[in-house]
Amino acid sequence: MGALVRRSAVIAAMFIFALTTTSDAKLNGELANPNVPTTVQLEEKSLNRRSGPHAIQDTDTANTARVEGNAPNRRSGPYAIEETDTAIILNAEGEPISNRDLSELRIPILVYHHVREHEGWAKSTWSWKMTVSPTNFDQQMQWLTDHGYTTITLDTLVKILDGKKQGPEKPVVLTFDDNNINVLENGLNAMTSRGHIGVFYLVANRLDQPGVIGRTHIPDLLSKGMDIQSHTMSHAGLTNLSNAQATTELAESKRLLEEATGKTVQHVAYPLTMHNQRIRDLTKAAGYVTGTIMDPRPIKGTDDRMKLARIMMTDDTNLEQVLP
Ligand SMILES: [Zn+2]
Repeated sequence: MGALVRRSAVIAAMFIFALTTTSDAKLNGELANPNVPTTVQLEEKSLNRRSGPHAIQDTDTANTARVEGNAPNRRSGPYAIEETDTAIILNAEGEPISNRDLSELRIPILVYHHVREHEGWAKSTWSWKMTVSPTNFDQQMQWLTDHGYTTITLDTLVKILDGKKQGPEKPVVLTFDDNNINVLENGLNAMTSRGHIGVFYLVANRLDQPGVIGRTHIPDLLSKGMDIQSHTMSHAGLTNLSNAQATTELAESKRLLEEATGKTVQHVAYPLTMHNQRIRDLTKAAGYVTGTIMDPRPIKGTDDRMKLARIMMTDDTNLEQVLP
């Protein structure tokens, strides 16, 4: 156990180090709860190592049913569905899709952090892992187009899961964390030129900071079909916080982002993917419909909505391998 905690602490420390050594160091300075020394936070949290960049994962695995590598091909499966507002989803035979069918639904949620050129970072560093080069990002957007994927919002995803909306044949959700302005500078055109949309999880206390995605960018993003959701107030690891502190992070960011966008904010990405049952309960109580974590697989219809998997995108992610 001690070894696991130490190893995990090193991994998490690498994560934070990578964040704080990027050009956005100032912005990520508030990653840690200022009331608790970072080393204590890391040691108090048991982290399970996963392969690759998905190194941080909660230990609450009791109801984690993992299904990998056997996602159905939705072109040939029962989901011959189209984007309509029809309340009931029908299968190829014209019959309503049952709960069993929904349990076979696979929808990938991808997460990007930086769209920028690499600066000679080693492949083992978080700087490398959190970066997708502009050229590769452009190619990935084209790959989605070429392979028939339709980008959707998280609101649409929830409607599909609830059986209230028929989604596109091959839905995918693109998400962007941490307010990184290089996504707009180097990636936005690659999306909009192909009709792709994405969800920007914004840290609310960065809304008025210069040099990041903030309040001034929101009208343009919304006009291009992009969605704004919450990455909390300060990017603190929620599991380190008291109930009251965590609730403030969740509820206050929701309120500020709703004020800034004029739209409902009901999805949160847990900072540093730190969450547990207590945090998920508080998230739900704060009015959120989904919470997302890092887990390299598409979500399925039966997943806990408060811990939906996201696939972290790096320059060596092979879309063909990670998408259903
Ligand atoms: Zn983040």
